[in-house]
Amino acid sequence: MGKRSADLGQIVSDIAAQMRDQEDRGAVANYIPELAAIDPNQFGIAVATPDGKLYTAGDAGVPFSIQSVSKVYALAFALGSVGDQLWQRVGVESSGLAFDSILLLEQEKGKPRNPFINAGAIVTTDTILHGSSPKELLGALLRFIREAADDNSIHINEAVAKSEIATGNRNFALAYYLRSHGNLLCAPELTLGTYFHQCAIEMSCAQLALAGRFLVSAEGMPQLVSHERARRINALMMTCGHYNGSGDFAYRVGLPGKSGVGGGILVIAPGRASIAVWSPGLNQFGNSKLGTDAMHLLAKRTGWSVFG
Ligand code: GLU
Repeated sequence: MGKRSADLGQIVSDIAAQMRDQEDRGAVANYIPELAAIDPNQFGIAVATPDGKLYTAGDAGVPFSIQSVSKVYALAFALGSVGDQLWQRVGVESSGLAFDSILLLEQEKGKPRNPFINAGAIVTTDTILHGSSPKELLGALLRFIREAADDNSIHINEAVAKSEIATGNRNFALAYYLRSHGNLLCAPELTLGTYFHQCAIEMSCAQLALAGRFLVSAEGMPQLVSHERARRINALMMTCGHYNGSGDFAYRVGLPGKSGVGGGILVIAPGRASIAVWSPGLNQFGNSKLGTDAMHLLAKRTGWSVFG
């Protein structure tokens, strides 16, 4: 079942109107001081379709910190650099634990479950950083994202990166633990400095929806990776993209997505659309509360769930 373009404009504005009136908006992430200061009363949505249209509503033009949504780009970049060798250092299973958990790392001898939990993302960034410098890698990653979005204005918010460097004790713990198992090749400070900057990339919903088009695999969408690779990244987004809320998101929305603690979610409707939603308040899993609710509504009204 698909939706005619005319309906999509109506659907996104209806959803934005409904989200504007919600009282329970979740709680803004407070462990990164720069993010704690963001106004929770914001909501944006953007949908990019293969016919070149972009449907937007609410605060779709307001830039936000993409945080863990950046892990999708780091993964695509790492698979492009080292291919399946990445899987020697990171798994492809969901963890069922919080984004920053250290628990399984001890049991599983320093091999993180997947590239979207923090430990796995740190290893992924370390893999592509090895043999390069943070500046070179961040430049290349930004070029990849700018090309995907066709927008050269996308940048890193230095204040957010610094804020996380100053407070990222858990990520430092994860990095040193990985290093003790021989699964971190660069110095922890270098890998984490790069990882924090990658997470501090800013985009609006409009930019993020455009930057996600390469994962849709449809004629009219940019093809930056092979169809097979896009399929695999989507599979990981479906099973691991929302941490221990991945089952909840798959059950309610039925589409691959990747969330970030900045309140953004990139969602792919394979063959149909790239969607970005943003609202800074988070649910109990650390995923955008209204973003998840909005995607639930969008999937329902469009019939875009991959499960029919
Ligand atoms: N930079 C954040 C961290 O590492 C990303 C977490 C997230 O967005 O889920 O803690």
